[in-house]
Amino acid sequence: MVLPERIDTGLLDWLAGLTLRTVMVVHCNHPNEIDDSVARAMQRLAQAGVTLLNQSVLLQGVNDDAGTLARLSERLFAAGILPYYLHQLDRVQGAAHFEVDDARARGLLCALRCRLPGYLVPRLVREVPGERSKQPL
Ligand SMILES: *Cc1c(COP(=O)(O)O)cnc(C)c1O
Repeated sequence: MVLPERIDTGLLDWLAGLTLRTVMVVHCNHPNEIDDSVARAMQRLAQAGVTLLNQSVLLQGVNDDAGTLARLSERLFAAGILPYYLHQLDRVQGAAHFEVDDARARGLLCALRCRLPGYLVPRLVREVPGERSKQPL
C-alpha cells in the first residue's frame, strides 16, 4: 500500500513468468489507503496472474466501525483484491489504545455479514504465539 512503485516491470515480468500459481497477501487497514496509484499497481499484479488477498488489523478509532470495514472490502474488491483476514492486534507495547474487545469485534463481523456478500467478509482471527495457524474468533 505504501510503495506501489515497487510493482514495476521487472517484478511483473518475473511474476508473469512463474509456472506456480502465485498468491500475494497485501496489508491494508483503511479504504483511504487505496488511492489510484495503489489500485493501478494491484490491477497490474492481477493481470500478471497473481491472486490478491488482503489482511487488516482491527484498530480502535481507525477502522472499528461497520461502515469503514464495508467500504474497505468494496474498495479492495474494486482493486482486484479479496478480503482474507481481519486480525485482532498483537498485544505489543504501546498498542493498547488500538485494542477492540472480542465481543465488539464479533459484532462488527456480524454487521458486515448483513451488508456484504460472503466473499467480501474477512475471517476474524487472532495470532496466538506457538500456534501453527491463526485462531478464528
Ligand atoms: C497469516 C500469515 C501467514 C500464513 O497465512 P495462512 O494463509 O493463514 O497460511 C503468512 N505470513 C504472514 C505474514 C501472515 O500474517
